[in-house]
Amino acid sequence: MPDERRDIVVIGGGIVGLACALEFSRRYPRLRLMLAEKEDRLATHQSGRNSGVIHSGIYYRSTSLKARTCVQGAKEMVAFCKEHEIPHQICGKVIVATKPDQFQGLEELQKRAQANGISGLRVLSQEELREIEPHCAGLRALHVPGAGITDYVKVSEKYAQIIAQNGGQIWLQTKVIGLRTDQGGYVLETTQGTIAAQYIVNCAGLYSDVIAHMAGANRDLRIVPFRGEYYELIPQRGHLVAGLIYPVPDPRFPFLGVHFTRRINGHVDAGPNAVLAFKREGYAKTDFSLSEAFSELVFPGFWRMAAKYWRTGVAELYRSCSKRAFVHALRQLVPEVESSDLVPAPAGVRAQALERDGTLIDDFRFEGSGNLLHVCNVPSPAATASLVIGRAVADMAHAQFGLKS
Ligand SMILES: Cc1cc2nc3c(=O)[nH]c(=O)nc-3n(C[C@H](O)[C@H](O)[C@H](O)COP(=O)(O)OP(=O)(O)OC[C@H]3O[C@@H](n4cnc5c(N)ncnc54)[C@H](O)[C@@H]3O)c2cc1C
Repeated sequence: MPDERRDIVVIGGGIVGLACALEFSRRYPRLRLMLAEKEDRLATHQSGRNSGVIHSGIYYRSTSLKARTCVQGAKEMVAFCKEHEIPHQICGKVIVATKPDQFQGLEELQKRAQANGISGLRVLSQEELREIEPHCAGLRALHVPGAGITDYVKVSEKYAQIIAQNGGQIWLQTKVIGLRTDQGGYVLETTQGTIAAQYIVNCAGLYSDVIAHMAGANRDLRIVPFRGEYYELIPQRGHLVAGLIYPVPDPRFPFLGVHFTRRINGHVDAGPNAVLAFKREGYAKTDFSLSEAFSELVFPGFWRMAAKYWRTGVAELYRSCSKRAFVHALRQLVPEVESSDLVPAPAGVRAQALERDGTLIDDFRFEGSGNLLHVCNVPSPAATASLVIGRAVADMAHAQFGLKS
C-alpha cells in the first residue's frame, strides 16, 4: 500500500526541479509537496556539471521562452545570490569575431540583444577588446558587461534548504521506476517504495522523456545526450583569460561553440564541445549503454538529425578525440594557448530534445496532460533562468491542475 498521499510530487532534484518545488512551496504552503531524486545528492547531473555562467539572454529570438526567462532570470539569479551570500561575480563576457565573415553574426546578436532589452552592450574594436581581454585575438567583439558566473550547485542547495523550511520534503536515492493512475491521481513506483500523488511534475532532465513515456505522453520527443568535454587551464596560464570569451555561435546549432570560462573558484575552463553520446549519464569518452544507444538509434528523428548535422557531428567527434584539434579551436580565440597549458576537466552531458522529424528543439518546452506536467526541454540557459522557469511551471500547474493556495 502506498504511504501518505502527496498533493504534488516533483521528479528530479536538478536546479529546474528544485526551482519548481521552491515555487510550489512558496505559493501553496498547505499542499503536501515532495521532490524525488534518484541520486544521493542534489544537482549531480547537468546542474552540477555546467559552465556556471549567468547568461544575459542575448542569443535567443525575442519571441522565445529562452529570451523571456533568461533576461529576467539573470537579474533574479544575481539578486538570489546576493540575498543568500552565494559566491557570484559579474565579470562580463566578450563574443569575438575572429574573421570578417563573422561580423554579420555579431551584428545579428547585437540586434537580438537590443530586442531582448539588454542594455550596456558595446561593439569593441580590436584595441578595445585587448583592453578587456589582453590575450584575445578577435578582430571585433561584442561586450556583454552584465554576464556573470556563479556556482549552481550552491544555488540548488539553497533552493532545497528553502523548500525544506517551507515544509516540502526532499527524498534522495528515490528513483522513479514506474507510474500508474490511481483514484484520480498517480502511484509512483520508486526504489523507496510506492508514493501516491495527486499531481506530478516531471523534471528528470536526461530522463524526462523516459518518465513522460511511462505516463503515456509524447512519444514524438526523445532526449539525445550531447557530452560537453572541458579542459582546464593550468594555474600558471590562468592569466590568459580575464572573464568569459566566446566565439560567434553557429545559428544552425543549439550550442555556443568552445569558449573560455573563468569559474567562480578562479579556475579557467575551456570548452565544452558537443559530442553525441550513447549513454545519458556517460561522462567518460568510452561510456556506452547498449539499451540507451538502441533506444536512440531506433528513433526515426535520430537518423534525420544525423543526415542534417553529420558534418558538425564528425567535427565535434574529431575534436573530442584529438586534443590538437580542440586546442586549434581555442587558439582562434586566444592564440597563446598551448596544448601543454590544458589538462582534462570533468565533462557534463546536455539533455537535448529531438523531434521525430530530426529537429533539435531550440526553445524551452513544457507539456501538460491531465494531472501531469512534463518539463521536456530545458537546456542552457535553464540554470540562469531557473527561478523564472519555476514560476512559469507553477503558473501552468495552477491553470492545468486548478491548484488553490
Ligand atoms: C556542459 C553544460 C554546460 C552548461 N552551461 C550552462 C551555463 O553556463 N549556464 C546555464 O544557465 N546553463 C548551463 N547549462 C544548462 C543547465 O545546466 C541545465 O539546463 C540545467 O542544469 C537543467 O536542470 P535540470 O534540473 O532540468 O536537469 P538535471 O540537473 O540533469 O536534473 C535532473 C535530475 O533528475 C534526476 N532523475 C532522472 N531520472 C530520475 C528518476 N527516474 N527518478 C528520480 N530522479 C531522476 C537526475 O538524477 C537529476 O538529478 C549547461 C549544461 C551543460 C550540460
